[in-house]
Amino acid sequence: RENIMDRKGLLLVLSGPSGAGKGTICESFMQKCHDVKLSVSTTTREKRNGEVEGVSYNFITKEEFEHSLKNNGFLEHVHVFGNYYGTPRSVVEENINKGIDVLLEIEIVGAMQIKEKYPDAVLIFVLPPTICELEKRIVKRGTETNDQIKDRLSRALSEIRKINEYSYFIVNNDVEEAVSYMESIIKAEKSSVKRYSEQIINLYQEEK
Ligand code: 5GP
Repeated sequence: RENIMDRKGLLLVLSGPSGAGKGTICESFMQKCHDVKLSVSTTTREKRNGEVEGVSYNFITKEEFEHSLKNNGFLEHVHVFGNYYGTPRSVVEENINKGIDVLLEIEIVGAMQIKEKYPDAVLIFVLPPTICELEKRIVKRGTETNDQIKDRLSRALSEIRKINEYSYFIVNNDVEEAVSYMESIIKAEKSSVKRYSEQIINLYQEEK
């Protein structure tokens, strides 16, 4: 099994509305699963309290972002909530090619760009238990104005309507449970005949 999967890392995309708890799930997941690499996104958004440069995000200016964009530096990017967000191309590609699984925590438009470029990517949608709960979480975070909260909520609803584009969903009732679902999804993908059939046949034929 090791041999079969050694070829290319999985590209895991954890997506879903802002405030659904993707970040918390990612953090817990990363503490548990050390063999997956989390992609650090680049953004032009202001750093929030407690965020760390190079860990939470690479924080850069709009000009720097646009420069990198022109040089094909991003695997996907979006302009949402008045700011740019993007996934640095080289880190992801290098790891995948080395056989290391990479996890992206991005919103839906970016996820669709990934799906288009990497049809093999595993798209997972994180749902809040309810919309009311989602609103509570965004309000509690205290970093957005009323208008920004409204914007994030209406965006959340239109994102949920596109859930058909995803392969899996996780309802974020409880972080531990959500992480356990993520692990199961990864295991399922690593047992996918569709994904590995060619490698399996080649490997066992070589052995003969
Ligand atoms: P926040 O400002 O709350 O950190 O992020 C806003 C939204 O942007 C979240 O839904 C987050 O997942 C998403 N996001 C963060 N980094 C990226 C990225 O590199 N690409 C895309 N498409 N979305 C991102």
